[in-house]
Amino acid sequence: MTLEQSLCRRFCFYYKPSKREELACGGYRMVERLIRRGKKISFERSGKAFGPETVDALEEALCRRCPFFAYDCDFAVNKEAPPCGGYLLIGQLLESRTVSLDDLRDMD
Ligand code: SF4
Repeated sequence: MTLEQSLCRRFCFYYKPSKREELACGGYRMVERLIRRGKKISFERSGKAFGPETVDALEEALCRRCPFFAYDCDFAVNKEAPPCGGYLLIGQLLESRTVSLDDLRDMD
């Protein structure tokens, strides 16, 4: 199964199978890097709300480094639109302590 199938199709509100994005969002790229570094990732959706520490970590280590942060992401602008699938998956990984904020900071 590709990352597009396991992450974008399953988690992302914005996913459109027919649309080929030239530029992957920061969430997708970070999940790719976590897998390359050997993190064992479950792609089951938990559906649980994130605590404030997770939200802060996602903003700092994910969204602020995402190419869509400044202009294209409505979630980043006003938090009224849903976040991308990568945000949701990485939030779950933080909540379950599969990854830490330091892991995310160390992802360049
Ligand atoms: S929620 Fe928006 S800014 Fe944050 S990683 Fe996803 S696309 Fe990028």
